[in-house]
Amino acid sequence: MPRRVEIAVIGAGVAGLCTALFLARAGREVLVIERGAAWGESSGANAGTLSLQIKRNEVLQVSRRAIELWRDFQEIDGIEVGFEQIGGLRVATSEREVAMLRRSQGEQAALGVETEWLDGNRLRDMAPWLGPDVRAATFCGWDSMSVPLTGGPGLARAVERAGAVLLADSNVVSIRQDGGRFRIGAGGNSIEAERLVIAAGAWTGQVCAMLGVDLPVAADVNMLTITEPAPHLIDRVITHIGGILSLKQYPNGTCLIGGGWQGRGELAAGTRETEHVSLMHNLRVAMQVVPDLAKLRMVRSWAGYEGVAADALPLFGALPGVAGAYVNACARGGYHQGPALGEEMARLMLEGRTGLDMRAFDPRRFA
Ligand SMILES: Cc1cc2nc3c(=O)[nH]c(=O)nc-3n(C[C@H](O)[C@H](O)[C@H](O)COP(=O)(O)OP(=O)(O)OC[C@H]3O[C@@H](n4cnc5c(N)ncnc54)[C@H](O)[C@@H]3O)c2cc1C
Repeated sequence: MPRRVEIAVIGAGVAGLCTALFLARAGREVLVIERGAAWGESSGANAGTLSLQIKRNEVLQVSRRAIELWRDFQEIDGIEVGFEQIGGLRVATSEREVAMLRRSQGEQAALGVETEWLDGNRLRDMAPWLGPDVRAATFCGWDSMSVPLTGGPGLARAVERAGAVLLADSNVVSIRQDGGRFRIGAGGNSIEAERLVIAAGAWTGQVCAMLGVDLPVAADVNMLTITEPAPHLIDRVITHIGGILSLKQYPNGTCLIGGGWQGRGELAAGTRETEHVSLMHNLRVAMQVVPDLAKLRMVRSWAGYEGVAADALPLFGALPGVAGAYVNACARGGYHQGPALGEEMARLMLEGRTGLDMRAFDPRRFA
């Protein structure tokens, strides 16, 4: 294990690994320091939904670039991330939601994200498995999915192939800046780094505090449910204009149901568990949108943390007041955006500027 490195990245989720990948590909010496196992937190527990049309307007460009990168990982770099661009339907089940969907479609079109309006027979022709309560949907050909379970190990191997070192089971407990270098206490080791990237997900606030920087980071506790394998049923990524459903069927037949319904838990205590009332609401929405789901048995539900900043936009950029330190964390839907945020972080650190407009995500907005 190297004791002195050029760049240390704290956190081996999608944000940290993608940052490390692009830095290492550019020939930089990178050490990724991870408290537990790589991909062991949010990035390994999420739904793998890569839906452009559900993203907030501020992150549309980043999210579009991220889909290109997920595709490149799979098709050009040979990293098995289970990427499939099957297109997505964002549904509305009431008149009010139909109006919201129309408005959102108009806003996205103005920002260059075109979707197709579907209702009546055209909607039923495309998706005969939708329930009668679904009144309209927008179809986005960019929408995709991936398989987080395989994506993590594949990405970790790619990071190592690119020349970075992954140090697992090494909790970062202290960071000091000393003579222009960072001294990082992790897993009983002391590591020196010239530059530092904090990509610690929901724990980013805690790690930034080690450098005396206070960033408002909270932890959501999101829930997911997986069904038993079923014959081919759903062939699109399904989302909901109300933000209350994500649904897809994997090639092995299992259906994954989520939608941001909150479980219970405390980051400080390390607790997270499913909450039955919200879980029932989640499943009810899923069965309203795709009634055939009612025939399936639910096999498992789980909960995981998602780090979110106070305005639910990414924390991306130089850490205020600490020369040489950067933060890349807390993008909502951060699995989707991870590759583009990693690419842009590497560009910022190597060239001093980003390719996309990232100003809205600058951590200085909270300084
Ligand atoms: C149930 C669920 C479903 C979701 N569904 C989707 C989805 O469909 N699509 C989508 O885009 N997003 C989804 N998300 C959100 C997404 O998973 C996260 O935004 C994303 O994975 C965050 O990646 P990350 O690398 O920032 O954080 P993480 O994956 O949490 O990685 C941070 C890493 O930092 C490590 N770390 C923390 N503190 C320290 C320390 N002191 N020292 C060393 N290491 C440390 C942690 O152990 C962890 O491995 C979902 C989240 C959940 C929980």
